[in-house]
Amino acid sequence: MTVPCADGTAVPSHPSHPQTHRSTGVPLGRRDGSIRPTDPSPATPVAVALDAAARGWYVLPLLPGEKRPASHPADRCPCTGPCRDGHRTWEQRATLDGATITAYWSAHPTHGVGIATGPSGLVVVDLDTPKPGDRPPSAVWAAEGVRTGVHALTVLARRVGESVTPTYAVRTGRGGWHLYYQAPAGVRLTNTGRSIGPWIDTRAWGGQVVAAGNTVSGRPYTLTHDAPPAPLPPWLFQLIQTAPLPPQRPVRVAVGAGRRSAYITAAVNRQLAYITHATGGRNNAVYRSAVALGQLVAGGALTEADATDMLKQAAGGHVATDPTFTWAEVEATISSGLRAGARRPRAVPA
Ligand SMILES: [Zn+2]
Repeated sequence: MTVPCADGTAVPSHPSHPQTHRSTGVPLGRRDGSIRPTDPSPATPVAVALDAAARGWYVLPLLPGEKRPASHPADRCPCTGPCRDGHRTWEQRATLDGATITAYWSAHPTHGVGIATGPSGLVVVDLDTPKPGDRPPSAVWAAEGVRTGVHALTVLARRVGESVTPTYAVRTGRGGWHLYYQAPAGVRLTNTGRSIGPWIDTRAWGGQVVAAGNTVSGRPYTLTHDAPPAPLPPWLFQLIQTAPLPPQRPVRVAVGAGRRSAYITAAVNRQLAYITHATGGRNNAVYRSAVALGQLVAGGALTEADATDMLKQAAGGHVATDPTFTWAEVEATISSGLRAGARRPRAVPA
């Protein structure tokens, strides 16, 4: 199928201005003249989506002003449109098709544009900046004076005698960076979260990134270096491939003290273990446990925020290891399970 190129957003070619990250010296520009500065005027979502698709990247709609996919959980599938032959996840629905893109974003002009990294053959390195309340990095990173993701990546490269390969780069809304690399052929990489270094996430199968030209919470994502994504450097591939998996041991909690609390604690831990040990039908396991905890929330034994956190923690191991099981899906399943549980409150005797 053919994808029309975004028109009306073409910009004049411009001499190369290799850019360097001021505080760290990370080279984000290329010396081969391939920089094409972005149009300073705001692009429409249709133009943003068509531009990404023209690069061969599969796009998906995001909720207005947010980073989350505009999607629905399997158990609330309307079975219409892209789901008419059965539910499809946002990753499965991500498209390159120009007509689909134009129709969708013309009808939903407030929706943002995400890029599904897996189908697009991309690995995006997401370099964050510390948020208030973030845990400080471990002593070994602190000793290197590392305070941002971009700095941590430079240190990782230096440890193996390399530097950060310049590639297509986007400045994120909160002052971080997205570095786009070509995924290696024949390997299905999944997301990593903070496991290769502090403030470094990587997005591949099961992941998506906010496209350049979008605004999240009023903050723009800006293309800073326009070039075809460089192949993922082997040293970075090695780190991502061998990233330690999150702990699979059961998540256990203690809810207060006393007999009533002991009862609640046992009930919660039973549900969390059920999710952790689920080998198939993980979404069902998350849903069932969310219903059970939703009943306790409705009965006043737990807060909804605590129940959500515990369920997410228990499901986290599956998300990290199974590319078809995504955070968006987990979150949607948890909230729909909690809602179902709330209709049948379960009180715990004092
Ligand atoms: Zn559906």
